[in-house]
Amino acid sequence: MQPFTGSFTQQEPIADDAIKAAVEVLRSGRLHRYNTVGTELGPVAELEKAYAAYQGSAYCLACTSGGYAMATALRALGAGPGDAVLTNGFTLAPVPGAIAAVGADAVLVEITSDLVLDLADVEEKIEATSPKAVMLSNMRGHLCDMDALTALLDRHNVPLIEDCAHTMGAAWNGRKSGSFGIAGCFSTQTYKHMNSGEGGFLTSDDPEFMARAIMLSGSYMLYDRHGAAPAPEVFTDIRLDTPNMSGRMDNLRASILLPQLSRLETNIDRWNARHDLVADRLRGMNGIYVPHRLEQERYVGSSFQFLMPEASKETVQQVVTGAKALGVELKWFGADSPVGFTSNHQSWRYVTPQDLPKTDAILAGLLDMRIPLTFSLADCAHVADIIAHVVARALQKGAA
Ligand SMILES: *Cc1c(COP(=O)(O)O)cnc(C)c1O
Repeated sequence: MQPFTGSFTQQEPIADDAIKAAVEVLRSGRLHRYNTVGTELGPVAELEKAYAAYQGSAYCLACTSGGYAMATALRALGAGPGDAVLTNGFTLAPVPGAIAAVGADAVLVEITSDLVLDLADVEEKIEATSPKAVMLSNMRGHLCDMDALTALLDRHNVPLIEDCAHTMGAAWNGRKSGSFGIAGCFSTQTYKHMNSGEGGFLTSDDPEFMARAIMLSGSYMLYDRHGAAPAPEVFTDIRLDTPNMSGRMDNLRASILLPQLSRLETNIDRWNARHDLVADRLRGMNGIYVPHRLEQERYVGSSFQFLMPEASKETVQQVVTGAKALGVELKWFGADSPVGFTSNHQSWRYVTPQDLPKTDAILAGLLDMRIPLTFSLADCAHVADIIAHVVARALQKGAA
């Protein structure tokens, strides 16, 4: 088997039109979002307007990161010390980190082998903890049954915040991920669906919630210079009561994101072609389970996951090592200590330890890989062949 030589962390370059826009901002010297002239909307406000239109939300705040968007959403909801916030037992560290940022207690919910929230456990934990909110993490782009979840949360009157770091552009029944609760949180960090190095968006249809979020982001009372903000009168009772916790996006990042937004739909098709090629090759293979997606789901295949449900730790380790030797980087969420971007709930020591036997059993056999758009379809076929090869070999060894 020929080794694969592509890089799993190599994103596409920033396109020339975005570079040109960035150079214009640099030449102007006006990098701060409120450094505008007359009635012009600067790049950040333009981006907020464009992203709100794309998302179909009334309001959008551009900010410094996805983690900042999540913590700001929790603060704007009034979550703080003593409050429980439910979130997925399988997600990445910025999610429990955002809950810790407001001093609330993360209550971890079990996941299913389709990598989505276990709704029965959501209900049990709502009843046990009366949470201030559910922070749903659409981890690795897998959407749970959004109709069932929203009906459940409505019944218990618990607000929903969506972590859409992996579902920017995704939808459920034609409705964009991030528009099912009070807030959607997005990241424009390099490995997400748009790339400004760091950055994020918070979207909402609730005017008072968004006014608080804008004040929190550090708007210096310049909220009338936003691109998708509630009317100035909404701020009257809020502006002096809401602290400034600076986390504004700057014009340089916004200038490179605006042209990327117009390419997002095309890129989703490109990701899905790559993802589906790998998934179709491996689905049904002996020893492998590829998470099932509900038909209402429009996903963004910027990464690929599969489970080896019956495999021993040794066998999974052999797959990881064998794939690596052939140039394929698989992340294993069941490893004993976190490596790179993998982390599991046991390594979040700032969260009260919780028993998640179902989630732990799933993570023990869960393998994950990025699919950068720098990979061609032929590259993806090659990667899938390598995975099939190392899995078959490891299972043979395990059986012997
Ligand atoms: C990347 C990511 C975020 C947000 O990350 P930032 O680096 O703060 O922009 C949130 N949730 C998940 C699951 C992520 O992968």
